[in-house]
Amino acid sequence: MNFKCLRLNLLFIVASISAPLYSQAIEVYSPLTFNDYLNRNISNSLELTDQTELNSRDYIIISDSENTTLVFTANSNQIKVFNLDSLNTNRDALEIIFQITSLDILNNLESIQENAFTIQPLLHSYYSLGSNNSDELIINDRATIEINSANTSSFLAFELDENHLKATAQYIFEAGSNAFKKSENWIDKWISIENSVLKLTDDKLKALELSFKNPYNSLELRLISGSDFDPKSTQWQTNPFAEYPTNTSNYIRHPFSSTQFSGEIDDFYKSQFRENTDSDANAESFLNDIEKYLIENDEKLRYQKEFYLKFRERLLSSKLASSDIYNGLLGQATVREVYFTMASDMNNQYHPFMVIASYNISEGPNFLIDVPRPPGDGTTNSYETQSITRNATLATHLIKIPLKDYGLVSHFSENDFTELGTLASDVGLSIAESDEYSYASLRDMGIAVDGVKVYPSLNNTLNFASAASEISITGIHVGRGMDLHYHADGHAFNGNGLNLYNSVDYIGKSHPPMIAISYDGILLFGRYENENLEGFNESLDSFGGHMHGDYPYHYHAFSQEKDIIDIRTNEITGSFIHHHLFVGAFKGNINDIPGLLETNTSQVKNTELAKYVGAKNTYTPIPINNDFELEIDKQILLQNYPNPFNPSTQIQYVLPEITQVNLEVFNNLGQKVMELVNGQQSAGLHTATFDASGLSSGVYLYKLTTPSLTEAKKMLLIK
Ligand SMILES: [Zn+2]
Ligand SMILES: [Zn+2]
Repeated sequence: MNFKCLRLNLLFIVASISAPLYSQAIEVYSPLTFNDYLNRNISNSLELTDQTELNSRDYIIISDSENTTLVFTANSNQIKVFNLDSLNTNRDALEIIFQITSLDILNNLESIQENAFTIQPLLHSYYSLGSNNSDELIINDRATIEINSANTSSFLAFELDENHLKATAQYIFEAGSNAFKKSENWIDKWISIENSVLKLTDDKLKALELSFKNPYNSLELRLISGSDFDPKSTQWQTNPFAEYPTNTSNYIRHPFSSTQFSGEIDDFYKSQFRENTDSDANAESFLNDIEKYLIENDEKLRYQKEFYLKFRERLLSSKLASSDIYNGLLGQATVREVYFTMASDMNNQYHPFMVIASYNISEGPNFLIDVPRPPGDGTTNSYETQSITRNATLATHLIKIPLKDYGLVSHFSENDFTELGTLASDVGLSIAESDEYSYASLRDMGIAVDGVKVYPSLNNTLNFASAASEISITGIHVGRGMDLHYHADGHAFNGNGLNLYNSVDYIGKSHPPMIAISYDGILLFGRYENENLEGFNESLDSFGGHMHGDYPYHYHAFSQEKDIIDIRTNEITGSFIHHHLFVGAFKGNINDIPGLLETNTSQVKNTELAKYVGAKNTYTPIPINNDFELEIDKQILLQNYPNPFNPSTQIQYVLPEITQVNLEVFNNLGQKVMELVNGQQSAGLHTATFDASGLSSGVYLYKLTTPSLTEAKKMLLIK
């Protein structure tokens, strides 16, 4: 045997053992849209249990007691019977669920029928069961903005009469008083069935015998007292609902739906708008230009382009699939546009952004009526005398996500919040008294893939919104302006399939889904569901983030036990599991990001910020050489990040073509300490993580070798 050959074989074996970080394909994906979820076949059969009494806010399935496979179902404004044997999709399953709501918790009734309740479809919480002139059961508007112009709407009040449903009152909308008035000549009627049509009858002998079931074993739809989102078993607040903001308009007249918004944006950026057939290609092409410019100038995007393109695509495919927004329109987009911009500041520094024009509404039901203690309207000092926010409206937000890598901070206080203020400073705490939870934005700090803003874990009294029983089972609620926002991870809380992301999203994937992005430019991924997911063993830091493999630094949702603290006595009174989305403090360096936290549409008129949101006549071509394609056609080894580091850092490099790659790390004695990559890789930007856990402090050298070029750079490990 040839000696040289043996040696090569040995080397090959050593290399394959010590090089676990061959560039793996990154799993760039987002959760299913709610519509996709609804159209998917149900994964398990729906397990139904008997419900013997009906209490306000219970979720029930109404079934014919003689033939219990026949249940009531509601879609759009129709209510019919449905055969449980033909239940296929998640939509089928959700359309047979209704909520019972006692009349005394509704606001717009002139007189209340005692002991009576309305029946609302789960997916259409602003609608109620009513009847038409032929006594057929229908679904009518009870509470959307459209009711103001529809002066004929009505709904029925029911009582349980043994095993029948008896309509004991009808409420008719009166446009003049903007309220429902009890019909004076109504006589008791029972639900019956005639030729498969659900009708009302005044003959009790014809009343349909019913039984009631609930789906709680399959879908946890209740916020159970004492659970993680209501750990103090807070009583359901009976305060009246807050008035709608006076400037509220319907979807058609909304500023984003009209031509007003499009008239305010530069024609160049509008080529990325969805009305343009080439919008996706134009967005991608401009993002390519942004990346080229940055790399040419020794800067870079924080993430590979695929992440931004996929995030954009997911935002643009999100549609309202539940009548659960006061002035929303079923089927409308939740985000108007997503486009990339790039403009330079006074020092000729370029700031590229992904701009998101969002209506800020989630796609599915929000369960706001069930929140034990929603935020007050803030009109008086005491909560008891305030009205509370149980309704959501469309909003208008122009959100800028920085694309450039502005670096990471090692301590939260490196980020300057002097002007902006933090949750901690708002209650008089110094920086020294702050932590990653309290050194956080006073308002939203990111946006989810459905277009809804995400707030830090703590609220403005430094309580977890979940511990204060302020959020619904999806981790969402509304503030004073009736804007929706997430505070916690509903999926981790109940896993019921109606959340921002769900178990189904993990099927066949190697990393949790991308669920939100923060205003510091850092992505948030779902929680780790199982140990086989990439990065499972890389613990999250105090900001809730980590990095591994080809994934630059990113946040994850996670769950953690927390004390319940009595804010008056500072005493610990118990504990609960908090299901975090964002922790609060930014790990990304925010000091150089123009207009951080500014999301108002007035940015298009702001002399400083207009160019970053792409206002009309603000685009100036990025200075790229005409022979730029040639310029970029070379291998580039970027400075590692972070640097100095402890214990891990990331090394990025650009390959002009598919090639054999060797990336090695040497200590200051010239000894090789690790081989990070050894194999063939595709053209483009690559990332490798160097974990120096077992190594001592000092200067290290990393060397990139390809058949055409060898490059090396220094890095500093400080332990
Ligand atoms: Zn809030
Ligand atoms: Zn990860």
